[in-house]
Amino acid sequence: MTLIQKLQNIVTEKFASDDIYVRHAYSRNVHPDLQGVPEYVVRPKDAKEISEILKIANEENIPVIPRGGGDCEWGGSIATGDVGIILDMKRMDNIVNLDEENLICTVEAGISWGKLNEYLSRFGLYTGCMGPGSGLTASIGGGISHHSVGAGGCAKYGACTNQLVSLEVVLPTGEIIETGSQANKFSKFPFNRFGNGPDLTGLFCGDNGIYGVKTTVSLQVFPKPPFANYKTFLCPRNSAEVVAQIFTEIRQKGIDVYDAMYIDEILIKLGTNTFGMYPMFEHLKRKRGIVFYVVEANSEQELEEKVKQLDKIFLNKKCEDLGPEISNGNFAKWQYTEGQWQTYHNCWGIIPVFENITTECFTPINSFPKILKDIEVWDMENEENMKKIEKIAGFRPISGTGVVPLVNGNNVELTCGFTTFGCYHDGEYHEIIKDINLKLWKSLLTLVLKHGVQFYMMGNIPSRLMVEVGAYTSEYYNLMKSIKKTLAPHKILSSGKFDFWEDD
Ligand SMILES: Cc1cc2nc3c(=O)[nH]c(=O)nc-3n(C[C@H](O)[C@H](O)[C@H](O)COP(=O)(O)OP(=O)(O)OC[C@H]3O[C@@H](n4cnc5c(N)ncnc54)[C@H](O)[C@@H]3O)c2cc1C
Repeated sequence: MTLIQKLQNIVTEKFASDDIYVRHAYSRNVHPDLQGVPEYVVRPKDAKEISEILKIANEENIPVIPRGGGDCEWGGSIATGDVGIILDMKRMDNIVNLDEENLICTVEAGISWGKLNEYLSRFGLYTGCMGPGSGLTASIGGGISHHSVGAGGCAKYGACTNQLVSLEVVLPTGEIIETGSQANKFSKFPFNRFGNGPDLTGLFCGDNGIYGVKTTVSLQVFPKPPFANYKTFLCPRNSAEVVAQIFTEIRQKGIDVYDAMYIDEILIKLGTNTFGMYPMFEHLKRKRGIVFYVVEANSEQELEEKVKQLDKIFLNKKCEDLGPEISNGNFAKWQYTEGQWQTYHNCWGIIPVFENITTECFTPINSFPKILKDIEVWDMENEENMKKIEKIAGFRPISGTGVVPLVNGNNVELTCGFTTFGCYHDGEYHEIIKDINLKLWKSLLTLVLKHGVQFYMMGNIPSRLMVEVGAYTSEYYNLMKSIKKTLAPHKILSSGKFDFWEDD
């Protein structure tokens, strides 16, 4: 029996394919220069099917790559080389249970943040952290695999893994386990993450799909507070430094802001004057960086008190309140009431052929202005390569940052990198653009990494780069590697990442 027949026996003919068109449809994420055409695409319906698929993959020695929404910016959910099986999780998008009394929701891992929150909103609930900015398509399983954060609520609730209670995971060899409270088989429903021995849920958080396939996820959910306020401010000059001071003060004063976010001057200028991304800023005479906050409360009085404290911080730093309505420039209101999962999509879709190559990371608040300064210097040092791209594309790549939200603790998610072009121009394919893009990407990843930041998306190239640059101590790296080799002795499951088999 051929492999495709074996796969079709498990999931039916409709949900396993080796058709070239289907395979190409799964060959990319959003990075313009990374592609891997898989040999097979399979769309399982449950953990049992995934277990059978993985057992066959072990017998046949063929890699498997889980894929949720496919929104990874670093090629994490595409095939490494033109081999392997893509395991498309998006058929598994059901809500398994909402425990309204204990405020815990159990879902299949392929469900999107948008679909889950639409469902929860009927009960006056939300997920707290609303997942990543790509949450209309990105899955809960992908978010947990990345420690995603960014779509809203991350200053108050932290990354989406903070809310995690338990997971059902299919291990690379096909065994199915449950973690957290569910490690005790007598537990009737998920209720807590920690206990029953070590935190094995944590092993699969941010693992980028290397240690197992998450099939069911139980998350804490929260009542959405009835009151909220949102204000947007124009920054003074040197806005990154000023914003870093504002974010630090918010944390030092212990104000439980729901969101605080910075969008830098270049993005505001280009996005408003050239690309029509920000109609709410068109009327502004001075286009500078903007910063905003969103705050929630259970009473008007509580809200008023928090707004008073926050306004004082922002106004003391010479930030200018743009007014209450979206048409005044109140981006925060748009973000909280309408744009939750749209803010970042705008950045990706500025104009066709414009492509973002990111080096985004978590970093302490007080470190991000310096990183941005170093990226400016890096940009100048790479003028020659930038010019080569400009000569073909008619536009010079732009480096810097986009949106910087305050996240867990005293940290930000720094969405830095450079915006460049794909290889097709005037009907011609220019391989040289791909070569330059990849060279620049690796160089910028290295520069940012050496600031001691944390990357959370790991495709093949960046995860290997961390090893190459010597970012991990050998003790830490060997521990990760021995866990991988124990769980996946036949190199199944996203095995190109982290270069674990380099000495085999
Ligand atoms: C417009 C846009 C905005 C974005 N905004 C943000 C943001 O604000 N914050 C942020 O963190 N990221 C952001 N991202 C990056 C990315 O979308 C997120 O990290 C997202 O959480 C990925 O989810 P996904 O379902 O698309 O994962 P995929 O890309 O499908 O997969 C991501 C990784 O997880 C693995 N994986 C997926 N599902 C499973 C599973 N069930 N079990 C095991 N492994 C699995 C994959 O193999 C891969 O390694 C953005 C991307 C875009 C295009």
